[in-house]
Amino acid sequence: MKQRAFSRASKGLVCTLAFALCFAPAHATQDTAGGTISVSYAPGIDEASDELATILRDAAIFEDLANGVSETIRLPADLSVQFRNCDTANAFYEPRLQQLVMCYELMGMLAQNAAAAGKSDEEIGQDMMFASIFFFYHEMGHALVHQLDLPITGKEEDAVDDMAALLLLENNEDGSGGVMIASVVQQFGELAMKMADMDSLPFWGQHSLDAQRMYHLMCMIYGSNSEAYADLVSDDILPKERAEQCPYEYKQRARNWERLMENHLKPEPA
Ligand SMILES: [Zn+2]
Repeated sequence: MKQRAFSRASKGLVCTLAFALCFAPAHATQDTAGGTISVSYAPGIDEASDELATILRDAAIFEDLANGVSETIRLPADLSVQFRNCDTANAFYEPRLQQLVMCYELMGMLAQNAAAAGKSDEEIGQDMMFASIFFFYHEMGHALVHQLDLPITGKEEDAVDDMAALLLLENNEDGSGGVMIASVVQQFGELAMKMADMDSLPFWGQHSLDAQRMYHLMCMIYGSNSEAYADLVSDDILPKERAEQCPYEYKQRARNWERLMENHLKPEPA
């Protein structure tokens, strides 16, 4: 099942490429000072992940996203982004190596979850890609917190979820940012259903629980534009009790991330 969904997703992925390329950096410059970000794709250990590696390499979407970051933010050191098999469905930032790893197995799991929700091949590819872009920005958040020594209180995992959501929502005011985060919301919904047994919930974990991450991202979507996303509340998807606070929460997080980054941005082009 996993292999099949992964392969279907690779085919569907092609359909999403033009859409995902809307991620131009908000204020890219030609300034070359500071660290650079390299992106590489290791050969996959099986046919499905190898096919995915080829598609990702040819599409070069993550190179565009990485360039958007390095052209906007002055990094003190180089950073490498590696797509590879890891033997676990995960993505992580390795501070010692200044390395961000996106596992093919994670993308396989995202495809599997989308397939389980009855999506078409095209939708599976799109959902996998959108969620992967979110997790790429999430891990980039960890890299920025480490490299720039950003002051984070509370859970770093929550803070970098916020950063990823803000980047998608703020840079895509045509509504595509909300669509992309909705893919992640669905993923957390699928994961939460698999962990329905209270005893198996990782209350001890660094991350907030999947259901909490799901509702918080919904709150960010709603908070970014409560008129455009009013259906989230009227359709009882996001509880009204939480929704009332979301515009404030969104503004607060956007302003705070702006303040965290303001001394690390490269100058705007003249
Ligand atoms: Zn994380």
